Amino acid sequence: MFDRILIANRGEIALRIIRAARELGCESVCVYSQADRDGPWLEQADEKVCIGPGPATESYLRVDRIISAAETTHADAIHPGYGFLAENAQFAEVCRDCNIEFIGPSPEAMALLGDKISCKRMAREAGTPVFPGSAEAIEDPEEAMSVAKDIGYPVIVKAAAGGGGRGMRIARNDDELAEGLASARQEAAAAFGNGAVYVEKFLEHARHVEVQCLGDKHGGAVHLFNRDCTSQRRHQKLIEEGPAPGVDSEIRDQVCESASTLIRNANYAGAATVEFLMDHEQKFYMLEVNTRVQVEHPVTEMITGVDIVKESIRVAAGEPLSVTQDQISINGHAIECRVNAEDPDRGFMPQPGVVEQFQIPGGFDVRVDTHVRSGYRIPPNYDSMIGKLIVHGRDRTEAIARMRSAISEFHIGPIKTTLPLHARLIQEPAFTTHDVEHRYDIHWVERLLDADAAEATAST
Ligand code: ADP
Repeated sequence: MFDRILIANRGEIALRIIRAARELGCESVCVYSQADRDGPWLEQADEKVCIGPGPATESYLRVDRIISAAETTHADAIHPGYGFLAENAQFAEVCRDCNIEFIGPSPEAMALLGDKISCKRMAREAGTPVFPGSAEAIEDPEEAMSVAKDIGYPVIVKAAAGGGGRGMRIARNDDELAEGLASARQEAAAAFGNGAVYVEKFLEHARHVEVQCLGDKHGGAVHLFNRDCTSQRRHQKLIEEGPAPGVDSEIRDQVCESASTLIRNANYAGAATVEFLMDHEQKFYMLEVNTRVQVEHPVTEMITGVDIVKESIRVAAGEPLSVTQDQISINGHAIECRVNAEDPDRGFMPQPGVVEQFQIPGGFDVRVDTHVRSGYRIPPNYDSMIGKLIVHGRDRTEAIARMRSAISEFHIGPIKTTLPLHARLIQEPAFTTHDVEHRYDIHWVERLLDADAAEATAST
């Protein structure tokens, strides 16, 4: 096992990793920016190193400063958390060159699965369901049109190196496709330094269902079943739950097994999530693979009892996975609400500033992962998520009731948060029934918010 793990991240995930490291007998070193000088999580670390000013480009994204912090504090491993450098294969390579273990996949596995075209190729080989479309990068509009003719419009042009929704264009006819191909290539080249794009079928009304996987360095790979993350706004997940409701167990097991085969074939060590869209007939199509721990990992921990962060540290240290597939089963249901310091009534405007009141809920099967406490000042530089509220119940109905109760106990002020919105969303028929009739798909929250806005305008 490692002696000291450097955490190249901040906030709730830094705290989550400190706790896991401590349980495994490892010390932790936190790097932090000047804007995070008073971050409460730093008090829990064994050592802390300031690596620069507030902007992430000057601190949490600076490979040179992070590596020198690791070297001067004698850390033998780096955990990247999520965001920042977590999916940067070059960073993983620099770590390896400096003899520091990167807690995550090898740079090769990360690059292979991080490129959407090579990932899709590997998925086909592993029997993981993918969208129909071009198998390779497309440059020629004629070729794109011939693919679109085969699969039928609408189609979507996507960047091989894509991320954050950039380099994507939806096309409903040949003209839009020719234009989308050119503009997506341009955008991708500018954003990622790689202009390769491909074309696949565009699914209009989909649910987001993903599979949590873990792999080790001995050819071991398991899946920890699935999660539903259909409740989103602008591609940002708001509520996640597991297991995904309304997926027959036979279909679920087949898709989950194909995901762990994909991870195994990629010689993948660490936590990975294979993301899918699912149509109303329970047909699955892979979106992408996230080669890191995800924000919503606690949902899976609550239903399987497997500590995903500890497991990823263990496998990075060369240990085999501590669980086999047949030891993993689903117990009950879990839901997570992301608590963002944003004002839903004012266009989700971020709410930096002092959190004067922060009173968290408790009780049976209630978990709050947060770095915040009363008196904490939210810096304006980073993501607005200030915590995650996760509940577990014997079934979905109990979990929803428990979430309602927990939200009613959670008091945060004077800053505004997404909690009141969550209280409402979990009672909406689209969410409670999650059925086609109520149009439970990845746009349901946006439709609801648009209807609110229209109503507000009409009444003024
Ligand atoms: P990124 O890496 O940029 O986040 P993804 O492949 O995850 O790109 O896609 C981002 C979002 O775009 C998805 O969550 C989904 O809402 C939408 N999307 C991507 N591909 C398709 C598709 N083939 N059909 C319908 N929606 C899609």
